Amino acid sequence: MQKNSSLSEKIFKQDHEQIIYCSDNKLGLKAIIGVHDTTLGSSMGGTRMWNYSSEDEGLKDVLRLSKAMTLKSSLAGLNAGGGKAVIIGDLKLKNKNFIEKYASFINDLNGKYWTAQDVNISSQDMIWMKGVTPFVVGMPEEEGGLGDSSHPTAYGVYLGMKAATKFVYGNDSLEGKKIALQGIGKVGAKLIEYLVKENANVYVNDINVDRLKSVIDKYEVKTFKNSELYSMDLDIFSPCALGGILNSESIKKLNCRIIAGAANNQLENDKIHDIELKERNIVYVPDFLINSGGIISVYHEQIQDLSKEKVFSVTENIYSKVEDVLNLSSKNNISTNASAMKIALDRIDRNKKK
Ligand code: NAD
Repeated sequence: MQKNSSLSEKIFKQDHEQIIYCSDNKLGLKAIIGVHDTTLGSSMGGTRMWNYSSEDEGLKDVLRLSKAMTLKSSLAGLNAGGGKAVIIGDLKLKNKNFIEKYASFINDLNGKYWTAQDVNISSQDMIWMKGVTPFVVGMPEEEGGLGDSSHPTAYGVYLGMKAATKFVYGNDSLEGKKIALQGIGKVGAKLIEYLVKENANVYVNDINVDRLKSVIDKYEVKTFKNSELYSMDLDIFSPCALGGILNSESIKKLNCRIIAGAANNQLENDKIHDIELKERNIVYVPDFLINSGGIISVYHEQIQDLSKEKVFSVTENIYSKVEDVLNLSSKNNISTNASAMKIALDRIDRNKKK
């Protein structure tokens, strides 16, 4: 029998429905679209462009990210599956022709994959894509979309934080709670507003000094340096910048009761680091549960239910979902990540059996 190549092994092991390689040598376009699971509906997730060190790195990212989208949409109760796409290459390659060609590959899938905006894809790119294919969501308001999804994302993170606070402290008030927010970009900046309104004791940090200054000028918050994070005695750490921030090194040093933030893929390894957090008695609110405000927004654009009130009211469900996940985790003595995955996968299984 012929031995599988490592690439094929990687793909088949992950249980994805389809992985589509797209290329146009003249334009220098290389993209991979990952359709992970469409049991609950069309697969949905952003396109990101990144100059990966190899095509295999791009594949790894698309496999991981599309699977996370399946879990995120399932937990959020949406009739959507999980997908994601990566364009591999230097950003300098990007122009109208390039993006239009990429969009034609999405169009060929005839709605099996709907794209949204992700890292290094601009609103202009989205408009160019929409000119070629209808399977694009997350459009600016002036183009008929629901616009920037970072506000519902921040609202969901705020509510998830409150639910975790209730679980740990017995009530959900954030008043006086010491919260460190790492990354005050689109989501972090909006989150500050909710926290300050509740008189939380907010500490912020960002590598972008202008952003930091604009926030200090506007709100009663203090700053911290990344190097100071581990010496702070915190109630809540909220990672809103980078993935991979929770690893064996940082988990050993963190001094907090709760981790609740918007950043995607916070756990460097989701089979090891969730357990390490549990062992340290830190309540980790899984990222794919707490940051689903964005997918809730683009999903409503897909089904043409263009009401921001509706998006915010569906986002409110994050509070009770966090309670469910934390309760199941303590009842079954499993990590919060395992508990969130179980709830997400059970919903998909129930739908498969119908
Ligand atoms: P953003 O790019 O607007 O903000 C990220 C901020 O983090 C920037 O201000 C950047 O300067 C800062 N940063 C980067 N590296 C840092 C470091 N080492 N230390 C401190 N700060 C650092 O992104 P965003 O839209 O606010 O999203 C934040 C996170 O949430 C990302 O991980 C994103 O993938 C995730 N997320 C966002 C949405 C959304 O709707 N925007 C939805 C789901 C998940």
